Amino acid sequence: MNFIFLGPQASGKGTQAILLSKKLSTPHISTGDIFREAIKKGDELGKTLQSYIEAGNLVPDDLTNKTIEKRLRENDIKNGFILDGFPRTIDQAEFLDKIIQINKVIDIQISDKEAVHRISSRRSCACGKTYNLLYNPPKKENICDLCGAELFVRSDDKPESVKIRLETYHQKTKPLVDYYKEKNILITIDGERPIETIYEDIINKISK
Ligand code: AMP
Repeated sequence: MNFIFLGPQASGKGTQAILLSKKLSTPHISTGDIFREAIKKGDELGKTLQSYIEAGNLVPDDLTNKTIEKRLRENDIKNGFILDGFPRTIDQAEFLDKIIQINKVIDIQISDKEAVHRISSRRSCACGKTYNLLYNPPKKENICDLCGAELFVRSDDKPESVKIRLETYHQKTKPLVDYYKEKNILITIDGERPIETIYEDIINKISK
């Protein structure tokens, strides 16, 4: 099965996508992670990506579509995959439809107020693990449980960028809810509940 996780920033879609990918043993594909890896290389492409992401803007569709097309050509997706953070615009969804079939879209919903609240307490580690100081803090203050590195606030989690990201979500990404509803593959999940409860809800709904 090929899945998409939709939802605003800090809805928990990344966390749930990783849990589902472990359960199904299928790859978790996050365009945000792919872009952050490219930025680490520090080349021209990385610098271009960084300028969009740090400002809280979307990376342009043609560049994003090419990135995902390349990733979906790899062999590990043949038994299914989980997309997290792609598509984020109608143009991207239409592009995806042309290259592969999607079976279910899981839309995790939270209010803007909750998103802002969660993002302001989010801390990240270079190893990819994220924490929330309110709901799942690290065991040692500001230190990653997994690798011992110091945690940081992602540049696009700073308040100026968060406002732009939420506006962009409503304008460009929210229309995807109707896009997939019309295709009868949308599953709606209340994201303002504990991680385990949401996970069980997802497993129940995708098995129906
Ligand atoms: P994420 O980790 O999913 O929150 O992504 C971090 C940032 O990467 C986003 O705020 C965008 O700037 C960029 N990005 C990730 N996925 C996409 C996408 N599908 N389309 C455009 N930009 C994206």
